[in-house]
Amino acid sequence: MSVRVRIAPSPTGYLHVGTARAALYNYLFARHHNGVFILRSDDTDTERSTQEFSDDIVASMRWLGLEWDEGIIVGGPHETYRQSERLGRYQEVAAGLVEAGKAYYSFATPEQLETFRNEARREGMSPAYDGRYKVSPAEAEERLRTGESATVRFAVPRPGETVFEDVVRDEVRFDHVQVDDFVILRSNGTPTYHLASTVDDVDFEITHVIRGEDLLSSTPKHILLTEAMGAEPPTYAHLPLLMGPDGKKLSKRHGHTALAAYRDAGYLADAVVNYLALLGWNPGDDDTVVDRAAMIERFELDRVSKNPAIFDAVKLEWMNGVYIRGMNADAFIATVTPLVEEDLGRALTADERAVLAEMAPLVQERAKKLTEIAPQMRFLFAEISYDETSWQKVMAKPDAGRAIRSAREVLARLDDFSTNSVEHALRGMLETEDLNPRKGFQPLRVALSGSSVSPPLFESVAALGKDRTLARLDAAAVAIDAAS
Ligand code: GLU
Repeated sequence: MSVRVRIAPSPTGYLHVGTARAALYNYLFARHHNGVFILRSDDTDTERSTQEFSDDIVASMRWLGLEWDEGIIVGGPHETYRQSERLGRYQEVAAGLVEAGKAYYSFATPEQLETFRNEARREGMSPAYDGRYKVSPAEAEERLRTGESATVRFAVPRPGETVFEDVVRDEVRFDHVQVDDFVILRSNGTPTYHLASTVDDVDFEITHVIRGEDLLSSTPKHILLTEAMGAEPPTYAHLPLLMGPDGKKLSKRHGHTALAAYRDAGYLADAVVNYLALLGWNPGDDDTVVDRAAMIERFELDRVSKNPAIFDAVKLEWMNGVYIRGMNADAFIATVTPLVEEDLGRALTADERAVLAEMAPLVQERAKKLTEIAPQMRFLFAEISYDETSWQKVMAKPDAGRAIRSAREVLARLDDFSTNSVEHALRGMLETEDLNPRKGFQPLRVALSGSSVSPPLFESVAALGKDRTLARLDAAAVAIDAAS
């Protein structure tokens, strides 16, 4: 039997990092077993589903490189992978279950159900609805004929118990006392998540359902439904919940929860994939940096932990830095050039491209996010303005003007404007002026780049060239005088 797995996001929100993690685990499991990975759209909630969210899910999956073999957009042997286009099929299954006595039309009113639950709680019993207001099939038929509306509920066998072996959680048991006669079809004929999802899993011959632990308590319902349809339930693997570093359920308080926000904030897809992979899965040793091929080769569901996984934005940022440093020089330049051009609002000239290529490795070494790079390189290609904080911290200090004037003097004498020669001249300036590197060099950084956070100084001076360097030092000296 070949592996067939799916993820089934609802386009009622942006692709969440938790869903992205589930998607990745399904993808890795499918690739490891040469199976099929399916992307389905659980879009029965037409009120809240939007095209924008649907596009975001597709774009985010593609950005992560989690290509799916069957599903929305790419198609496959099934006619559609959108639940909104399969309503007839769900109604047909519901009707079949009613016919077989495994489900029934329910006329229980919200008030009745409320009364039942309150009483159950008062008596310390399970509030799961046990079907006590069920009417006979004949009465149901009569009431439907007179136009009364009804939901369809699944008749959970009582007494009873559903037991299954979850790959992550081991044996899981649910006494049916805790499982209500759940609605499968609403009175307007639309299926609930339980019905639509289970029918899809059966029809698409899903072999393994790998999803978040928040759905564990729904699983007995899905198993009962699957069996009632005469099918064999899939193997289940419920992934540990994602928590913030404070041990609370991951939420916006902990940083972005929409996957695309990480792309926009300058993260590399490979770094995000690597980070997500380790949120609950242990590759088998202490490796934290694992490439995709190794993940596919080593991925096993039984190495997924039961314990909640901590989503730590600081670690993700660290990992992103590791991946940025790991890019080869050409790939880095190719990634960064359009970002710099976009930031400038124009294309770079051939000379400027050479400058960028020269400076790129220095920036690459320090960057944690791609979005940091263009602002750091802007001073090489555009006029600068002084960053307010840097000005206050550096230029408003007593020795700044002296350092700048003295640097201007030694640099003006240089014919050779190479990094080495610049370094030699500027170190000499520190000595003559009796300044330490912080006091002597920080003002130069701000004068040349506008900010005290910039690429290394000597290389920056060399890259700017003599004319621009001297002009910026002059301008800074004037600005300091004007400010004092
Ligand atoms: N649409 C459901 C969700 O996004 C699918 C859950 C499942 O994998 O069964 O939570």
